[in-house]
Amino acid sequence: MNKPSVAVYKLSSCAGCQLEIVNLEPILFDLLGAVDIHYFVMAKRDNKPGPYDIGLVEGAVTCGEEIARLKQARKECRILVAFGTCACFGGIPSIKNWKPQRVVESIVYEDLSAIHSTTAYGIDNYVPVEAYLKGCPVSKDELVEFIKSILLGVRPYLRPHSVCVECKLHENVCLAVTKGEPCMGPVTTAGCGALCPSHQKPCEGCRGPANDPNPESLAETFKEYGLHKRDIVLKFRKFAGMNPEFAKGADAV
Ligand code: SF4
Ligand code: SF4
Ligand code: SF4
Repeated sequence: MNKPSVAVYKLSSCAGCQLEIVNLEPILFDLLGAVDIHYFVMAKRDNKPGPYDIGLVEGAVTCGEEIARLKQARKECRILVAFGTCACFGGIPSIKNWKPQRVVESIVYEDLSAIHSTTAYGIDNYVPVEAYLKGCPVSKDELVEFIKSILLGVRPYLRPHSVCVECKLHENVCLAVTKGEPCMGPVTTAGCGALCPSHQKPCEGCRGPANDPNPESLAETFKEYGLHKRDIVLKFRKFAGMNPEFAKGADAV
């Protein structure tokens, strides 16, 4: 059987999601036995040109050059995957979208002559996408599950429920109910194993919205907990503010 070929692309991102592939150390050799990684600049010197079976695209699209690279990736790959929250929703790069571009750029760069930044979007703003692996960074378990699904030819299991469900399965004491902590778990899609609440930290919403969330109600609850309006807005805009569901939470206050 031919092994599926894989390409890993990078747009505007911190490279943390790609690093999670390298961090699959205990099963890395099994993985390399099951798929052929043809293009992965972070990990390989000898990269092969497309076409590829699977393309993992990390990062938000934040300039015209990246739109062109993304469209080329779409042509090269049979299955294109938004790999990580930046690629799914705009992620951390989309924080800049709420101020005028030139204002943000002048905070970072002295010379703006070479800067041609655009509004940061997830990749499906420009090309069709077959699958979304969410998280900042992606969950290693979900990545392995996804690869197994592709190899078996079955649809990957995409968790529709919220982080709260995983939090309860871990038998955590609820930080919101017992301490009034502003936890995004009720509206955030599961898959991380409720990582943050399991370490007594409220969820920050890094995996974007769960199916059928109620962000307006959560924003109201945050107000009751005494959070300032501005902090509520920032919570909903931290990772997926461009997503219509999280935008409802930010607009509700
Ligand atoms: S989703 Fe998070 S970890 Fe992944 S590239 Fe974006 S900022 Fe980095
Ligand atoms: S701590 Fe957060 S994720 Fe856990 S049950 Fe409470 S609200 Fe949900
Ligand atoms: S608990 Fe929330 S912020 Fe933490 S990893 Fe999971 S989705 Fe991300």
